[in-house]
Amino acid sequence: MSRVPEGPATHCPYCALQCGMNVAGGEVTPREDIPANAGGLCQKGWTSAELLASPERLTTPLLRGRPATWDEALGFAAARIRAVQEEDGHDAVAVFGGGGLTNEAAYQLGKFARVALRTAQIDYNGRFCMSSAAAASGRAFGMDRGLPFPITDIGRADALLLAGGNVAETMPPFVRHLTRMRDGGGRLIVVDPRVTPTAALADLHLQVTPGTDLALALGLLHLAVAEGYADLGYLAARTSGFEAVRDSVAAWWPERVERVTGVPVARMREAVRLLGTAPRAMILTGRGAEQHAKGTDTVTAFVNLALTLGLPGREGSGYGCVTGQGNGQGGREHGQKADQLPGYRKIDDPAARAHVASVWGVDPDDLPGPGQSAYELLDALGTPGGPKALLLFGSNPVVSAPRAGHVTERLGALDLLVVADLVLSETAAMADVVLPVTQWAEEAGTMTNLEGRVLLRRRAADPPPGVRSDLAVLHGIADRLGRGDLFPTDPRTVFDELRRASEGGIADYSGITYERIAAETGVFWPCPRTGEDGGPHPGTPRPFLDRFATADGRARLVPVEHRPVAEEIDEEFPFYLTSGRVLAHYQSGAQTRRVPALNAASPEPFVELHPDLAERLGIEPGDTVLVRGRRGSSECVARVSAAIRPDTLFMPFHWEGVNRLTNPALDPVSKMPEFKVCAATLERRTPP
Ligand code: SF4
Repeated sequence: MSRVPEGPATHCPYCALQCGMNVAGGEVTPREDIPANAGGLCQKGWTSAELLASPERLTTPLLRGRPATWDEALGFAAARIRAVQEEDGHDAVAVFGGGGLTNEAAYQLGKFARVALRTAQIDYNGRFCMSSAAAASGRAFGMDRGLPFPITDIGRADALLLAGGNVAETMPPFVRHLTRMRDGGGRLIVVDPRVTPTAALADLHLQVTPGTDLALALGLLHLAVAEGYADLGYLAARTSGFEAVRDSVAAWWPERVERVTGVPVARMREAVRLLGTAPRAMILTGRGAEQHAKGTDTVTAFVNLALTLGLPGREGSGYGCVTGQGNGQGGREHGQKADQLPGYRKIDDPAARAHVASVWGVDPDDLPGPGQSAYELLDALGTPGGPKALLLFGSNPVVSAPRAGHVTERLGALDLLVVADLVLSETAAMADVVLPVTQWAEEAGTMTNLEGRVLLRRRAADPPPGVRSDLAVLHGIADRLGRGDLFPTDPRTVFDELRRASEGGIADYSGITYERIAAETGVFWPCPRTGEDGGPHPGTPRPFLDRFATADGRARLVPVEHRPVAEEIDEEFPFYLTSGRVLAHYQSGAQTRRVPALNAASPEPFVELHPDLAERLGIEPGDTVLVRGRRGSSECVARVSAAIRPDTLFMPFHWEGVNRLTNPALDPVSKMPEFKVCAATLERRTPP
């Protein structure tokens, strides 16, 4: 077997754009050959090499807070797992994964749970990220691939509506594609409760009341039909369900939508005109539209709009989800989700179970069934009948889970918490066993970016002595449970098995090799082993051009109804609280808060409020304030800005704080929590 490729050419440790970069001598330089960034990086990417040399790096296992050998730490974890399972059964041990793990680690984690632990209790933090968009895409198209077209198509569009995405801060090189579009005469429409840096770039900003994106999408669809923009030929040829959806939006006349959303009718009309008259148009959603207890229906409403306008499956047009986490796309394809097996297969599908079991060399009847979704799993920890032990990889739920104070209590009630991480995150600090692992440029593996393009991370730097890869950790525990032979540590070996496990599934990687990825600067899935001519399959940049991935090849329009937010504002909690990201930080901040330049750029949590509200409450910029909600509170600094609605507060989620307040009400389809809106109040803490 040839060696796993090494060399300086790798990809950023952070977001789903997976910008190409070279890492050598502790310096980062951007790569020109990766279309997503084409020579650009954001501040997080430029400073990412500092993570490799961070003095806060863990280099030795910790056992109940004291340094331990690997043998001690793994032996302790395995012995406790055995004891818990003997006492309470297989499902008494749970696994929690992450959307930043490589494809190989995500795949191996799902297999580890089902084969080494034989537990159904595995889910991951991607459930908190874009699961509602994934469910809506599956519902409409029979397949969920974030952007079902190359990102470079964006630059050729004539109009683009972005609902709930702030790419100018979350993934700045994405803006290059929007700029190319606008330089070519294309128009940008942004839906957001705040005038974010992205909304400030827009030709048209629809400043919705938090939690009303669904009503807005229904209103836009109503107008599209009423004003003659429905593409009836496309709808007849390529879709089903239009008539029912058309009828379902009949009552969403524009003035009613304005009352619900706060968006003026004239702006809605202009948005529909821009989209409806554009030869090539796109509708994209981000977390702002997706992280709701009605997230799947909200995204479905935007997909219905895109289908009515005849966009998906036409070159240069379409619907897409702007995935957030580094391997947010690949992380949801290979089996670390509670209801899925590799290849995006359903775990309750007998044929899927038989195929995957044959690759794993186990009896399909021994594979567990579906487990609980991420929040349900965290909520059940340490309860009677719930998991007593948790193994956690690449996630920091003490900061990132909704109702985080409660989740922290549940973690504290466990008999055993094992955390694999590169730094002592807030969650790792609670663990009985902490296992120090390698990070991005120290290990080879594949990542799948927001376009569905499979990329190769080469090992570009040596890890510090004492740390092990996620694959080695899984092998070490499996070995002590008697299944080590099934868990190799070499990424290429794991990837080759992943290819076989995915073969014939929705996310088919069987024709993708490390060599092809390196030679072709990424390969789009689905990529079966052979193409129509019997040679290598070329990969699929635009999977819906001829047919959708449904049984009849048609996209499905599904009627959905608007409903109120899970927690309305009232006299006690009179403001909407929403959350999001800032330019300098990524996710729970466990990595970026340890990079000095990023920490200096954005050193502390804050709450943003409108000047009118600040005046009414006697709050000055820089005051310390207490933000309170029904589930918890958080002290932080006040920032006063006219960029936010007067009825809304905004807090970034990179620090412990805002998620003590957020609402764990779940979307019934995807089990996405209602991160993006809850009721809150605030008061000044700084003495006058
Ligand atoms: Fe690119 Fe995202 Fe990394 Fe910034 S954080 S350099 S946008 S991959």
